[in-house]
Amino acid sequence: MKTLLRGGYVVSGKGCRRADVLINGETVEKVGHVLPALAGDAQVVDVGGCYLFPGFIDAHTHFDLDVCNTTTADDFESGSRSAIRGGTTTVIDFACPNKGETLAYGLSLWHKKADGRCYCDYGFHMTIDDWNEDIEKELDDMFAEGITSFKMYLTYPAMMIGDGAVYHALKALRRRGGIAGVHCENAGVIDARIEELKAEGCGADVSSHPIARPDYCEAEAVARLLRIAQAAESPVVIVHTTNKAALGEIAAARRRGQKVYVETCPQYLALDDSVYYDPDYSNAARFVCAPPIRTQEDSEALWKALRRGEVQTISTDHCSFTLEQKDMGREDFTKIPGGLPGVETRGEVIYTAGVAGKRMSLAGMCRALSENPARLYGLFPRKGVLAEGSDADIVVYDPRASHVLRAQDMVSKAGYTPFEGFRTEGSIVKVYLRGMLQVDGGKVVGDKHGVYLKRGKCEL
Ligand code: MN
Repeated sequence: MKTLLRGGYVVSGKGCRRADVLINGETVEKVGHVLPALAGDAQVVDVGGCYLFPGFIDAHTHFDLDVCNTTTADDFESGSRSAIRGGTTTVIDFACPNKGETLAYGLSLWHKKADGRCYCDYGFHMTIDDWNEDIEKELDDMFAEGITSFKMYLTYPAMMIGDGAVYHALKALRRRGGIAGVHCENAGVIDARIEELKAEGCGADVSSHPIARPDYCEAEAVARLLRIAQAAESPVVIVHTTNKAALGEIAAARRRGQKVYVETCPQYLALDDSVYYDPDYSNAARFVCAPPIRTQEDSEALWKALRRGEVQTISTDHCSFTLEQKDMGREDFTKIPGGLPGVETRGEVIYTAGVAGKRMSLAGMCRALSENPARLYGLFPRKGVLAEGSDADIVVYDPRASHVLRAQDMVSKAGYTPFEGFRTEGSIVKVYLRGMLQVDGGKVVGDKHGVYLKRGKCEL
């Protein structure tokens, strides 16, 4: 079965050109001028005036995660449906064993949650929240299962392993050609500030959340991690980077010759911390995530860093809770489940605020959402590019169709969107997953065709 997408503009990490795309089965057969002899009896789809992006990759999602004494609103079924609707054809979620459990157990648990339930393709990072000889030995098994990237935390006592173990783990990963993404916030100072805020009677204020977790507490942890990585002679990924001070620490490490990859998220680019000062509890609590959303100056610094190639990827950190779940923190802000839905809106928000807003080019958007995550996480060139032999994961983006983002139209089970009322420039009209039409007219029309992806090593 062949499909010919005719009349569109194919976007790559290098630029954008007028080209047809011939899909043959699950892969791309040709990009460019397609002769009738090659097209044969292909179904012809007119995509005149539309941009064709390689399917977006979201390398940071949390579906079906038990956290904060509750479970995320989106499981792999609704989460991946929300993803495909937003042009994301691959998610990389975080398998997360508890302390004391094996990595193998964590992996089997995540396969149970995801297998057979996904509308998009998926892979897993493995969380290292415990460190000992047995876990180090298990790393080889993880690589054999196609898991080449890992996650560590410098905050949250349930997840932290300590600086020494981070050092050992980075070395063990480096020896195997693996890489780790790290959540960087200072744990001790933040906990001390939380106690102070509660003692001052601010325990029920949502605004205590950003006050407890200032930008410099993130920058301190970024700086410390980068020094640990220097000692371990290891590259490292800074996940969900939010602010200018942290970017300064990253620039300093690069000047020393260190390899640092940086991720940010739409909420840090297109929103600002005024969201936390809404007097209505629910309006403010829905934006609680860690690290918190920062100032406009910080988001402009992130856009600038994206333009300069200092930030490589934009993922979402999709970790959705309903407003009822967010109500758990009405009396105590530390009990607000942290996280935002975002996997459904990333493409349109970044196109609108970035490309249409003249803060980034089409090629820059393609690098941040598709090509760089594919290279960083061992999926390139199967994913991340529209070229001969690549998977036919294609986002058809119509820049002329505009709409307003509304919770009631979302597939996600969060029941709200942080971008309520946001007017998009353009719309995602069709999405193909390995040649299968999964979204048409902005609606999910496909089925649970997603498969698990064994990934190779970092090539960025
Ligand atoms: Mn996360």
